[in-house]
Amino acid sequence: MNTALIQKERIESLNSDPKNMQGKYVVYWMQQSQRVRYNHALAYAIELANKHNLPLITVFGLTANFPEANVRHYDFMLRGLADVEISLKKIGIPFVVQFGAPDDVALRCSRGAAAVVVDRGYLRIQKKWREDAALKFDCALIQVESDVVVPVDTVSRKEEYAAATIRPKINKLLAKFMVPLNLPILKKKNFDHSFKTISLSYIKTILKRLKVDSSVAPVEWLVAGETAAQKTLQEFIKSRLSLFSTKRNDPSVDMLSNLSPYLHYGQISPLDIALAVSKIKSESVDSFLEELIVRRELAMNFVHQNGDYDNYYSLPAWAKGTLFQHAKDKREYIYSREQLESGQTHDIYWNAAQREMAVRGKMHGYMRMYWGKKILEWSKSPEEAYETALYLNNKYELDGRDPNGFAGVAWCFGKHDRPWKERPIFGMVRYMNSSGLERKFCMEGYLKSNTAV
Ligand SMILES: Cc1cc2nc3c(=O)[nH]c(=O)nc-3n(C[C@H](O)[C@H](O)[C@H](O)COP(=O)(O)OP(=O)(O)OC[C@H]3O[C@@H](n4cnc5c(N)ncnc54)[C@H](O)[C@@H]3O)c2cc1C
Repeated sequence: MNTALIQKERIESLNSDPKNMQGKYVVYWMQQSQRVRYNHALAYAIELANKHNLPLITVFGLTANFPEANVRHYDFMLRGLADVEISLKKIGIPFVVQFGAPDDVALRCSRGAAAVVVDRGYLRIQKKWREDAALKFDCALIQVESDVVVPVDTVSRKEEYAAATIRPKINKLLAKFMVPLNLPILKKKNFDHSFKTISLSYIKTILKRLKVDSSVAPVEWLVAGETAAQKTLQEFIKSRLSLFSTKRNDPSVDMLSNLSPYLHYGQISPLDIALAVSKIKSESVDSFLEELIVRRELAMNFVHQNGDYDNYYSLPAWAKGTLFQHAKDKREYIYSREQLESGQTHDIYWNAAQREMAVRGKMHGYMRMYWGKKILEWSKSPEEAYETALYLNNKYELDGRDPNGFAGVAWCFGKHDRPWKERPIFGMVRYMNSSGLERKFCMEGYLKSNTAV
């Protein structure tokens, strides 16, 4: 079955011996890939339904217990799901959203199903939901990978050391995987099922019912959902892509794509972005694809292969060794987590970056590196610094709790990097300072844009 161009490497049976293949419908269990466009799992589910002449429903389990998620995150996700509901309706696929652990909800809605198709996620909890489901489901559970350009296990079966080691492996496979995906048309539409579903028109009510941490406000400057993601992509291509290669590091001019929140919630596919950007003739295309594919998929490889991805022990031996040797070095400034969280350091640039993240929910990419390095410099120990950086990143960034966030924080402590000249506190871990920022960029401009947030 290959009409929609879903390469076999994207597809995996999660339960090898399904007992029931006799159901009355097919289920697409949506979890990571929260979109209709360029969704390989949905495309596969439609093909399966058509092959067996069955109807299809899409099911989503809304848990209140996603680690470190707060109202800012849930609000963006729920608005995206409301958009998914509209898109699914247009193609005749009912969308069932219920409160509960995603695997439990999928199971509840699959009692009469012939097969369940699920998308792929790489975080521990996402893997666990799928593993648990595989043990409980009577019918076939098939995972289809759609949120990377090249399937993670096809790229590499081990943890990659750095961008330099994964880049040639990815590049070798790009021609095979960078191909368009056309969603097949479902033959048996508008399945008349009896499952209850949450109304996505009342997001505030849903948020109240979830009782999640409401200390971090939702963002208003970025519209959620796959329709808005497509608009953001087109705006980026039209107005900013041509300057990406020269200006992407400059925090005083926002030349970035702003696609990371959409990518995080699966509201846009990296393949869709990569194909759209590749059509443009610009010197920036290669540098953008380096970030979108090589760096992002290195982060996927990291969380997929390293069981310690969310703690200090994920670091390479040389980095832990050198940081240990310098752990007792005198620190000119030491700040508590509370001081850092409220942006009360002596450094105006760092405070502005912290404010940008806390208020806006998205810190500029270059400032994220500086921000993380300074937390290492100003904390009592590297271990404490690591915890603080992850805590703040995951609490405030709209795109936080993402493989890129875990890899980004780890990078500040030496991951995916090489040893540099030895110096206090950092040892051989790469250092950054504020005079570097001032030398390269108009930091006044950054400060001004930040006082306005
Ligand atoms: C300390 C630290 C924390 C970070 N936390 C996160 C996080 O929580 N979530 C997150 O998505 N990214 C994180 N990053 C990576 C990067 O900074 C963001 O992906 C980027 O700034 C998002 O903005 P954009 O989509 O406008 O980026 P663009 O520059 O327009 O890039 C397009 C896409 O390429 C990918 N990309 C860009 N830079 C990187 C990178 N360095 N590593 C991996 N992928 C990259 C992202 O998917 C991004 O959306 C972090 C980096 C650091 C150093």
